[in-house]
Amino acid sequence: MELDYALQEVGSLSEGGYDGIVLVSEGGKEPGIPTELSSVIKKAEQVDADLHDSGAVLGVELPAKRLVYAPTGKITGDYHDVRQFGDAAKKGILRVLKSGAKSPLIVLVDNKRFERTRLVTLLGALEGLYMNLQWREDRPEKSPKVKALGVWSDDPKGLPALIQLAGALETGRVLARDIGGPDPERMSPINVEKAVRGAFPANSGIALDVVSDEAILNKEYPLYSAVNRAASVIDRHKGRIIYLTYTGSAPTQTLLIVGKGVTYDTGGADIKAGGIMAGMCRDKCGAAAVAGFMKILSILKPKHLKVIGAMSMVRNSVGENCYVSDEMIMSRAGKRVRVGNTDAEGRMIMADVLCRMKELALGEKNPQIFTIATLTGHALRTVGEGYTIAMDNGPARKAQTAAKLATAGEVIGDIIDISRVRREDYETHRGKAEGEDVVQATNLPSAQAKRGHQAPSAFLILASGLEEHGLESAKPLLYTHLDIAASCGEVPKDATGAPVLALSTAYLDL
Ligand SMILES: [Zn+2]
Repeated sequence: MELDYALQEVGSLSEGGYDGIVLVSEGGKEPGIPTELSSVIKKAEQVDADLHDSGAVLGVELPAKRLVYAPTGKITGDYHDVRQFGDAAKKGILRVLKSGAKSPLIVLVDNKRFERTRLVTLLGALEGLYMNLQWREDRPEKSPKVKALGVWSDDPKGLPALIQLAGALETGRVLARDIGGPDPERMSPINVEKAVRGAFPANSGIALDVVSDEAILNKEYPLYSAVNRAASVIDRHKGRIIYLTYTGSAPTQTLLIVGKGVTYDTGGADIKAGGIMAGMCRDKCGAAAVAGFMKILSILKPKHLKVIGAMSMVRNSVGENCYVSDEMIMSRAGKRVRVGNTDAEGRMIMADVLCRMKELALGEKNPQIFTIATLTGHALRTVGEGYTIAMDNGPARKAQTAAKLATAGEVIGDIIDISRVRREDYETHRGKAEGEDVVQATNLPSAQAKRGHQAPSAFLILASGLEEHGLESAKPLLYTHLDIAASCGEVPKDATGAPVLALSTAYLDL
């Protein structure tokens, strides 16, 4: 799979073949802006005092004839970040299409405030060209939005590599959006497996291993299987765990990443009542991000990395076979877990897979384990739309994993905030009755619970047995949990593919 439109290098704005130029800029100030464009902006400034906030469609003396000026607005180093450029580019590309252009061209200029302005600008434009999977499938005649996007840069030497990189990153994000976005039937666990098999053919460099046998799932992934029980009575809703492995030619580090793939979250027996169920098809975006990241690896083929990804795919259904609160289930790690709320299914379907990753990590070089999940409404309440929250265990905090990821995210405009797992989080989830090791959840919805997004990290550490690999242990293991409930993209907006860009920037030496 590649992008279904071309990215074309443009050497000169006098080239024909384009009918709309998009310029993203902070007030027309960047020295790299071609004079044919800056002169037009200067003229427009004289008749529009709001030009640098609201932008404009302007005439230009170039073959394209049309310029969409997409301003970033006023930027301050105090609190703005490079997303000013990505957001403006997305708006700009949508505006140029609305203006009637069929063959747009984007102009990339450096802005000294940020490290990767050109890349983020281009990625923003590509985001605007994305068409969601079901729309594409139902209206193939409308897809793709353009046959090609022309790209001009004030750094022509670096342009081919920039185009290649942006194309690879966007291809990964497209796969993540294609899996994360669709409705629960189009992307049921079985259909996710089909999509993954299509995206990673034998020659992709990604090895696939799909666990769908119920006897094996029950034996090896008991917490997962409790959630899968209700859905498994319907053939087309049966769950599966998909492992994807990439091995670089000279790996010095192994990432082990578990993604939450709840294709639909009804809440289960603790049903999401009162209108809060809609939008829950996005509960698979963690697994979708794993697929997207693996896609980028399969294209860029970094030598120094080995990555084992796991997509834990299940539907949290409600029915006569569903799991309920008070059930006592022995986890893969041998912990006795008491169920407290069936809507806390995400941690259930990841804990045993995380335990397997822990087992594998002990045999890997320099391992770092992640979970990626739309885990809690509390994450959204805490940081608001657009932000991933990262939480390290002791060893990962010592290695500054979340901090490094946050720095990488800042560079690429895939923003990550950091929370810290505290003693109260462990206390919340430690067993309360005699012989009980772990309590899965309190009875409150996460959005109303205290420390609602931090505490589940402690559950995952306890139920998977990762607690035995803390700072004081003989074999410390680095583990970082990423809650993407606030950054995955809410219905009816497109899925975002977060945090694929931040992970790529942090680990691929882009
Ligand atoms: Zn839930």
